[in-house]
Amino acid sequence: MKTPPVFDGHNDVLSRLYKRGTSGGIRGFLTGDDGHIDVPKSRLGGFAGGFFAVFVPSRGEFSGYLERMQAPEYDLPLPPEVPLAEAQKIAWKQVETLRQLEKDGGLTICTDTDAILHCISSGEIAAVLHMEGAEAIDPGFETLDRLYEAGLRSLGPVWSRPTPYGDGVPFRFPSNPDIGGGLTDIGKSLVRKCNRMGILVDTSHISETGFWDIAAITDAPIVATHSNVHAICPHSRNLTDKQLAAIAETGGVVGLNFATALLREDGRMVDDVPVSMMVRHLEHMVRIVGEDGVALGSDFDGATVPKPIGDASGLGALRQAMTDAGFGTKLIEKICYKNWVGVLKRTWRQ
Ligand code: ZN
Repeated sequence: MKTPPVFDGHNDVLSRLYKRGTSGGIRGFLTGDDGHIDVPKSRLGGFAGGFFAVFVPSRGEFSGYLERMQAPEYDLPLPPEVPLAEAQKIAWKQVETLRQLEKDGGLTICTDTDAILHCISSGEIAAVLHMEGAEAIDPGFETLDRLYEAGLRSLGPVWSRPTPYGDGVPFRFPSNPDIGGGLTDIGKSLVRKCNRMGILVDTSHISETGFWDIAAITDAPIVATHSNVHAICPHSRNLTDKQLAAIAETGGVVGLNFATALLREDGRMVDDVPVSMMVRHLEHMVRIVGEDGVALGSDFDGATVPKPIGDASGLGALRQAMTDAGFGTKLIEKICYKNWVGVLKRTWRQ
């Protein structure tokens, strides 16, 4: 079953290709490689595209954190701040990779929702340029203007580390999202600037205080591109019912993260997870956020995903599980892509 197509809220293809070295990586994306997303796997699983994250990795010691999250309990130290110049160099390299993928016919960078719908109907991969953590953006926001020109339409002010804009939550289990400070003054200015430009502001990875700061400032729907239900999996990266209700109130969207550490009740990053566990999170989200506020945010290429899914070619297992759970065709279409298109339409100036 390959329909409806899946357009999702988060993948880490660009940082995977960055780590691999660009030229070989791009070929692999086109012809197939060992990652979660490439062109052949997308065709097989009906992966129609999504938010492609530019992400600046943390230095040195933080490598191997997915493995460290396999433990029954963990508390990973927050990685250090990334300096501006270093972040900019890496971020532009990843933007360049996305452009190269477009030139080579691997995907299409979309800055309006008609373009996304066109890609979905014609079978091209639709890419929304997203940035996960704003370290590459200078305090005068000149970089933001340049990134916008390059196609950036979605920005998460923080990843899970301290930044000049606010604090991200640590990878700790069990834990609450209420860890760390909120938005700084410049973080608040960044949110206002994004609002004016019609750039979506993503609340995934931010502290709960930061979440409420964004909620108080923003005039756009509140969005969490790749986060799950804290009431099921008590991880700092997941959202409390109160946060989910706030998303609902603004006509926002939450994207289901496939990362097993954010799905499992025991918070472990191991792949022994039935697809029914994903459906449990979706059902809880639909109950609180409503049928128009729930979508997918796979975190493909950035996390360990449930074994029955495996990679983008295995998305049929999730569609099937939603059908088996009694989700109607209309709801499945909304979750698979329509709700992302809807909230982008309400957010972007297009
Ligand atoms: Zn993430």
